[in-house]
Amino acid sequence: MPLPIRAAVLEQPGEPLRIRDVLLDDPLDHEVVVHTDRVGLCHSDLHYVKGSLSISTPAVLGHEVVGVVERVGSAVTRVAQGDRVVTTITPSCGLCAFCMGGRPTQCARVSETRRRDRPKLIKHDGTAVEALGSIGAFAEAFLVGEESLAKVSTRIPSSAACLLGCCVTTGVGAAVHGAQITPQDTVAVIGCGGIGIAAIQGARIAGARRIVAIDAVADKLDLARKFGATDVVRASRDAEATADDVREILPGGVNHAIEAVGRPQTAELAFNILAPTGKATILGLMPEGERLSIPADALVCGDRVLQGAYMGANRFLSDVEMFTDHYLAGRLDLDSMVTAELPFDQINEGFTAMSDPTAVRIILRLNQGEK
Ligand SMILES: [Zn+2]
Ligand SMILES: [Zn+2]
Repeated sequence: MPLPIRAAVLEQPGEPLRIRDVLLDDPLDHEVVVHTDRVGLCHSDLHYVKGSLSISTPAVLGHEVVGVVERVGSAVTRVAQGDRVVTTITPSCGLCAFCMGGRPTQCARVSETRRRDRPKLIKHDGTAVEALGSIGAFAEAFLVGEESLAKVSTRIPSSAACLLGCCVTTGVGAAVHGAQITPQDTVAVIGCGGIGIAAIQGARIAGARRIVAIDAVADKLDLARKFGATDVVRASRDAEATADDVREILPGGVNHAIEAVGRPQTAELAFNILAPTGKATILGLMPEGERLSIPADALVCGDRVLQGAYMGANRFLSDVEMFTDHYLAGRLDLDSMVTAELPFDQINEGFTAMSDPTAVRIILRLNQGEK
């Protein structure tokens, strides 16, 4: 029987989300119904709300979530009823060449594992409702393939655990898997929002000898220092002046630059501050059609590398265990990353509050009982 739930529905980009009663379908063989506990507001959700990334509407966004398994499909083996789980928008089959080659975020069978002959969510009038990333967690419950789930320890409070699903996976993952930072390396992180702060922590955990945080907002640079930045640069509109400021701190340039903004100018800056043999790792999603321009001689003659690391090139199942151990040992500060927690009904206020320069991550509370 379909489950009646409340969900925050995007009817039209540019308009506030509306809390509506919708119906959640029964799980197929490999699907799981998860009762939502906490869910984070991510900049990619905001892109869809504003319309700078497109999704068919009506839609339920939300993908950075922790919850409890309520029902499982007949063939599910990864989780069981009552398990506490976090989600990833990069499900992996474990069997294709990319998964077998250690690059599960590029799984070749994503569309196959997400295939469904009827919508997950419908309105009471029968209208189909899209679920972002095949998750759609701005809702009391959501339906997701088991390939998108990892169990998570109850020793991490819910408010912190939800961050593992997107911003920590992406930021720490970029430092550890994408850039593969070592204690010999100098690192610059461009953009000190949730993902940038997670990348700074990832660089610190990986042992980077210098970590330069770059942001246009002074308050964010103060925050970045608390999370492990050794140096800070206030970005100006003139990218060349910003690059000069980085070279004043590290004259030869940096071994690694991690871009966590999602603009061509900041991605190009990441490349332009590299030392020879340096590697720029780009995380920020950019609107379709954007292009990058980099100096070809610096790429070829300097053996420099420009690469993407979609969702931090994560290995979700083992990463959640890695994050948990670093959190419990006090090396990964998730608690301070949550700068506001709001009730579900205040989701639109939450999106507005994301522009506050001191906001790192804003999360919504759906389960009133747990902390
Ligand atoms: Zn996200
Ligand atoms: Zn695969």
